[in-house]
Amino acid sequence: MKKKIYMLIIILICACPGLIYFVFGDRDKPFLKLSPDLICVNDQKIFQVLARDQGLGLRHLQVILRQDKKQITVLDQAFSAKTRSWSGEFKLPKLKQGTFELLIICTDRSWNNWGKGNTSLYQKKLIYDTKAPLISPVSKTHNLSQGGAGLVVYRVSEEVTRTGVEVGNYFFPAYQQKNGLYYCLFAFPYDARPDKDIPTVIALDMADNKAKRRFYYHLNKRKFRKDRINISDRFLKSRMVQFQTLFPDEKDLLQLFLKVNQSLRAKNRQQLREIGLHTADHFLFTGKFLRQPNAACRASFGDQRGYYYHGQLIDKQTHLGVDLASLARAPVPAANSGRVVWAGFLGIYGQVVIIDHGLGLQSLYAHLSQIDVQEGESVRKGQIIGRTGSTGMAGGDHLHFGVLVSGVPVNPVEWWDKRWIKNNILSKIEAKGMY
Ligand SMILES: [Zn+2]
Repeated sequence: MKKKIYMLIIILICACPGLIYFVFGDRDKPFLKLSPDLICVNDQKIFQVLARDQGLGLRHLQVILRQDKKQITVLDQAFSAKTRSWSGEFKLPKLKQGTFELLIICTDRSWNNWGKGNTSLYQKKLIYDTKAPLISPVSKTHNLSQGGAGLVVYRVSEEVTRTGVEVGNYFFPAYQQKNGLYYCLFAFPYDARPDKDIPTVIALDMADNKAKRRFYYHLNKRKFRKDRINISDRFLKSRMVQFQTLFPDEKDLLQLFLKVNQSLRAKNRQQLREIGLHTADHFLFTGKFLRQPNAACRASFGDQRGYYYHGQLIDKQTHLGVDLASLARAPVPAANSGRVVWAGFLGIYGQVVIIDHGLGLQSLYAHLSQIDVQEGESVRKGQIIGRTGSTGMAGGDHLHFGVLVSGVPVNPVEWWDKRWIKNNILSKIEAKGMY
């Protein structure tokens, strides 16, 4: 009997660690995540570490940086019992420019490994870069008109994630060429402030260091014409039907008109900005742009329109194209060669074709009654792309012709002028075969 009891005690003593291990010995390593996941970083970036342990919880976490033979601890965190999840932030201290190693070591409260717990190790090689890229303008003169376009050519000293020209709140992306140079077609928008919104080249490198560089330019200020548009009940009855499905709750035709003229117009302008990004990284056009033949100019770029209903001023908007009227359903030629990026209904513009000519330059043909091209199709200068009409917000049959730079409307008159194109655009990029 005594022997049996001894045997039982011996068995229990032997089984005990196994039992304890079975109960407390979680063998899963803590989960670790570092965000954002970058390769190049500067000392402004905030990193976030997330640690989780589903077993007995977290014990200890360290974030260590190694560069050359130096080691810096940026985070050292001991956890109280039952901490299963934790997240913390850190920034990089001053390091030498160049590569360094980032280590995160995290242990849990498991009895595994003779009581040391399970350890997760996150290891990554990164590049420390706090120097902004160097921007060097290559093009010399930039003559701009308010509402017009310009081209700046420049070099950037390192790889970038974003570069182009800022004018006030507007941003015009640049496109890198095979020779390494950046070409940026930009506008001095009709509503930019001449003395405050200074066109500036910006460049953001892989580590988010931002460089800004001004360049020499001359701006011709402009005063735009005033124009009066009378909104008749006949116009409201005949024109507003096409917009009723967009604002189904608006039964009053005048209120519907105001919604279309204000909020739909703003939405359509935003859509143009998005379409403007669908562009070739080189010019697709040659020579000057064609003007609709035998057509009279009915409204100009930048016209300050006042809308009147029964003699009362009800709205104000800026007209950002040229209205050209000839015969009803007149054939519309492509102003220049390019690729169709939009062919269909677009709010206030009605049935529209938009042709991309590269580097963000696009031409727009609005209020069409018929469209003869499809999205994605390449078109030649002069090719008939549709017929004029009065779809969208148009009083009568005409062509609203627009030119856009990265979706921002510019004065089309410049693009009808062979000399203007040569002096301001093509001479800067030595595109001798294009004019
Ligand atoms: Zn128009």
